[in-house]
Amino acid sequence: MTKTALITGSTSGIGLAIAKNFAAKGYQIIFNGLEPDGDKIAGNIAQQFGIKHHFSPCNLLYPDQIEKMVKETLDKFSHVDVLINNAGIQFVSPVQDFPLEKWNAIININLTAAFIVTKALWPAMQQNKFGRIINISSAHGLVASEFKSAYVASKHGLIGFTKTIALEGAPYNITANAICPGYVHTPIVENQINDQMKVHNMTREEVIEKIMLSKQAIKEFIPVETIALTAAFLATEEAACITGTSIPVEGGWLAQ
Ligand code: NAD
Repeated sequence: MTKTALITGSTSGIGLAIAKNFAAKGYQIIFNGLEPDGDKIAGNIAQQFGIKHHFSPCNLLYPDQIEKMVKETLDKFSHVDVLINNAGIQFVSPVQDFPLEKWNAIININLTAAFIVTKALWPAMQQNKFGRIINISSAHGLVASEFKSAYVASKHGLIGFTKTIALEGAPYNITANAICPGYVHTPIVENQINDQMKVHNMTREEVIEKIMLSKQAIKEFIPVETIALTAAFLATEEAACITGTSIPVEGGWLAQ
């Protein structure tokens, strides 16, 4: 049976690279994202690799939209083998100025949405006796940086959620793992450069050099393809005994 992967936030950045990698392997893909041309982006990849696909413009802030996306997915494909909870947002501010609505949006998109999608797909994965859940956390799921209270809390929370569902999934051949990227040059990072310039009163080059890449031993942005390869490996039959873990792909940031 052709394998199916649902990837949230897959019309940009890391999610898009993961989708391309899985499409090249022949997976059917459920794309999701808020990019205005998301439908076109998804259609182009599907055409390029000759795969079946579905695009959902579901806004992960809204549980009823998530349930609709999952229902459409199961109606069309009947099963989902791989779920990649990838969509995420960032906001940078000192804690005393951090707006509550930004905190809530980050927790809801980065953490709660992963729970809702997982919960909705869980019975189908249990029934299939197969599931690979891959949560895109961050190096900030393992360590903190100042001015990112909500993001760091959401990404640490996602690792705790990953461990819990790994335990619950083990009897059903459902694995759950987190990937913890360092800095990857995608739109989320481009926006952060602008925010950090204001918070730290620095130039663009100073933010990249002194705030971002200074933490990594390898002073380069991590290529999206490296994250996609890690996800593809975790989705394989051969990775069946890897579960509940967090894999840093962060250029040696955490080695110090
Ligand atoms: P990106 O901005 O390029 O992509 C984010 C995707 O999430 C987009 O498709 C966007 O439309 C989608 N999204 C955001 N809010 C949504 C919502 N409410 N509903 C549905 N979709 C929504 O950023 P990226 O760098 O590719 O980020 C992907 C993931 O990787 C995020 O979870 C991010 O936290 C994580 N991450 C990124 C980096 C990095 O340096 N870029 C590092 C560590 C972790």
